[in-house]
Amino acid sequence: MRLRIGTGAAAATLGLAAIAALPARGADKLPTIVVLATGGTIAGAAASDVQAGYTSGQVGVDQLLAAVPQAKKLATMRGEQVANIGSQDMNDEVWLKLGKRINELAAMPDVDGIVITHGTDTIEETGYFLNLVVKTKKPVVMTAAMRPSTALSADGPLNFFNAVAVAANKDAAGRGVLVVVNDWIHGASSLTKTSTTAVQTFLSPLRGLVGTVAYGQCEFYRGPVGKNTLDSEFSLDGVTALPRVDIVTAHSNMDGAVIDAVAAAGAKGIVIAGVGNGNMTKAGLDALAAQAKKGIVCVRSSKVATGRVGRNVEVDDDKLGLVASDDLNPQKARVLLRLALLKPRSLADMQRLFVEY
Ligand code: ASP
Repeated sequence: MRLRIGTGAAAATLGLAAIAALPARGADKLPTIVVLATGGTIAGAAASDVQAGYTSGQVGVDQLLAAVPQAKKLATMRGEQVANIGSQDMNDEVWLKLGKRINELAAMPDVDGIVITHGTDTIEETGYFLNLVVKTKKPVVMTAAMRPSTALSADGPLNFFNAVAVAANKDAAGRGVLVVVNDWIHGASSLTKTSTTAVQTFLSPLRGLVGTVAYGQCEFYRGPVGKNTLDSEFSLDGVTALPRVDIVTAHSNMDGAVIDAVAAAGAKGIVIAGVGNGNMTKAGLDALAAQAKKGIVCVRSSKVATGRVGRNVEVDDDKLGLVASDDLNPQKARVLLRLALLKPRSLADMQRLFVEY
């Protein structure tokens, strides 16, 4: 169902600017939003406002909040610095800390929503991880920027304002973890980074947008795709480490050397960023099937930008003991596989997860 927010009697009596600033739950009491900062370009700084070179994770959460005073009209906010790193350095320690902190905050009755600031490089991985392990229907909204905070035409402040608006909007609840960048609301399970430098870098190629947000005014188009949050069977209770899973990229003239190397390095799972429909050379498939026989869970995904990887289409998964990633790209397939490997499962159960999540 298509929901339009910010219309109705209140909208008729207020100016457009006021509508944009109006949280959906009413103007009498502002929702409380906790901002968890992890770094990224949104907190990045350069020596000048027109230079390409910069460093991620330089600006603290208090400075970030102070830079967007307009967001105070949308919500009562408080910030916590979870990390301050470029998301190329995102790691399991921060993931576990972030996931557990979101669960604590979401259980507090006075917290209405959570915003997470993050780098764009791996936001789709962290977002999908959180989508699987946070136990709440309250809005959990990630945001990022392609230009550092010091840049001419920095995109971070409006992205942050829009993320707060989405988190403060009760109609954002129950849609899974969301990512708000450049006026678009993506589902964490569907978005992917498509440009190294363009501000319009994120697309949700197979599933489309969850909605849009323009200067705080939200429109929602769809619910979540795939099991998530409260419906997810994954949990961080008692989890202190995640199993190693490596991604191996397929290409022409490929042999099995890299597959054997990641197995030797201790991988419990291997995700193939395959050609086409998750395909590989015969030598690559032979090496993969040999590792699958030894108990490493091997998932076929694709390096192609969009499309599903179907089971037993060009590759005989049943015969080789492989799992097809369905619509998860390699980096998201790796996230799901790491969580799936937290307990022993049959290959059929592994395949079920890739269909359901
Ligand atoms: N390398 C940066 C990061 O992911 C890029 C960005 O945030 O846009 O932290």
